[in-house]
Parts: sequence; C-alpha cells; structure tokens
Amino acid sequence: MSNLNELYQQVILDHNKNPKNYGQLPPPCCSAEGKNPLCGDHIDVYLTIEDGIIKDLKFEGDGCAISKASASIMTTVLKGKPVAAANEYLEMFQDLVTSDQPNEEHKGKLGKMAIFRGVHEFPTRIKCATLAWHTVKDAVAAG
Ligand code: ZN
Repeated sequence: MSNLNELYQQVILDHNKNPKNYGQLPPPCCSAEGKNPLCGDHIDVYLTIEDGIIKDLKFEGDGCAISKASASIMTTVLKGKPVAAANEYLEMFQDLVTSDQPNEEHKGKLGKMAIFRGVHEFPTRIKCATLAWHTVKDAVAAG
C-alpha cells in the first residue's frame, strides 16, 4: 500500500506551485469549464486549434494540488499534438489511474503524467487527476 506522501511527489508539488501554461487565451479559442464538486476543484481550459493541431492551450482555476498539477502537466503533453490525440491520451490516462493492471506501453507514452498512477490507491482523487482531461475533451467538442 503506498501512502499519501508518495502521491504528493515533488513533481506534483512543483507544478502546483508553478503551473505551466497558466492563464487565458484570446478568442477565438475553444474553451470549457470543468468542476469536481467532490473536492471543490474548478478549472477553465482554453485551446487554440489550427489545422487539427493544438497550437496552444492554457488553463486557469482553483483546486487541490493534484488537479492543478495534472492540468499543468497535461498542457505540456498536449501542446503541439493533433486534436485526435487528446482523446487518445485521455483514454490512456483514464486506464492508468483506474485499471488494476495498467498498460505498460501507455505509461511510457504518458511520460510525466505516469506519476499520477498513485491516485489509483485513492479513488476520491481520481476525479481530481482526470478533471483537466475531461475539460479539454469538452472544449474540443464545443469548439
Ligand atoms: Zn481535487
């Protein structure tokens, strides 16, 4: 059994303190709002999409360290990727945090996001970790 300290690894704490790509993007960008009432996390994401590529994405919001760090790392993973990849990554990430036996190949593809595997032990935290991803999906669908 891993403990909560392990979950709050340094990289999570660092991203919480100094989030990457924090802020808004000017219109016309796709945006969406995500909420996780269980924890009180609230996030807005902004995406600029050109020729099917996520040219830029930013987020703003308030929430726990896990939700903010996940959003921050997510922006670094998805920037420059095709829109289709966002859904693919969401599915891989969802599997990583919920599955009893996550796909090892996905772990490699997810890079830094793989540290969130720790939330698997804490079901109430899974929504914190996946909030930003679901919000990006909503933003793309709305755009
Ligand atoms: Zn949270």
